[in-house]
Amino acid sequence: MKWLLFSDLDGTLLNHDDYSYEDARPVLERIRREGIPLVIASSKTRVEVEEIQEEIGLRMPFIVENGGGIYFPRGCRGTPYLPGSEREPYFAVRLGMPYEEIREFVARAQQRIPLRGFGDMTVEEVARLTDLPLERARLAKTREFSEPFLLEDGEWLPELTARADEIGLSITRGGRFFHLVRHGQDKGRAVRFVKTVFRRQWNEPILTVGLGDSLNDIPLLMAVDYPVLIPSPGGKELQIEVPRLILATVPGSLGWRKSVEGILGWTGEREGEIPGGGRDAENRDKMGDDKDKGENS
Ligand SMILES: [Mg+2]
Repeated sequence: MKWLLFSDLDGTLLNHDDYSYEDARPVLERIRREGIPLVIASSKTRVEVEEIQEEIGLRMPFIVENGGGIYFPRGCRGTPYLPGSEREPYFAVRLGMPYEEIREFVARAQQRIPLRGFGDMTVEEVARLTDLPLERARLAKTREFSEPFLLEDGEWLPELTARADEIGLSITRGGRFFHLVRHGQDKGRAVRFVKTVFRRQWNEPILTVGLGDSLNDIPLLMAVDYPVLIPSPGGKELQIEVPRLILATVPGSLGWRKSVEGILGWTGEREGEIPGGGRDAENRDKMGDDKDKGENS
């Protein structure tokens, strides 16, 4: 039996406010020693995730732009031989819509609806809105499969959603922005793809852990055996219905560490609720309707 970990970045492995992962470092080092793969599944771009992977010392397949693309580093364990587009030094799987097409839609929608996407913003503006340093903000603008955006007034959301739907786009919501993504594109679909690849490589049973903090992580949480919801620093709990959901007791990278340690049995106790416990029964109301309303910031 093998473990396979999937994790969102912002607000999950990285703290919401300072983007630090220091508290998670002991677990990151141990999973590296023990050969447990950690697959990042983020709304960030390829170049952003590359930089974070390098910082952490991680070389693994990763999922970008809300499941829009999956990159398998060549020569890395778990790297499949895949048909489809091949980008040096990766085997890349495209699940999203090409960015240029999404931008064409945004330009048309803007004739009526006051939305601003990353493609309309300067690096400085993205830096200010994300609290990222300029260099990171520049990487965040290097989109391939999705467009984060802000709406001047949330009342436009239904109309924008309907127009997007006509050309095969959906709107999802992360911690800070809305995102335009292709229909059916989500982190869960990408997670299942990666899991299949590992299963073929390993040829033995896999237990998956998935960690996330926002509405756009629900598909990821639904696709794993041990779904972990990391709470937001504001303390406002996201009301979602996910079977066997484990709730971390603290936000950010500390909650991430405690949850993973508990699930992998490294501390002898489980953080939050044990799968199969009563927690998800309490949360049974909201998830479906909340999709477009979002949770916070
Ligand atoms: Mg997040």
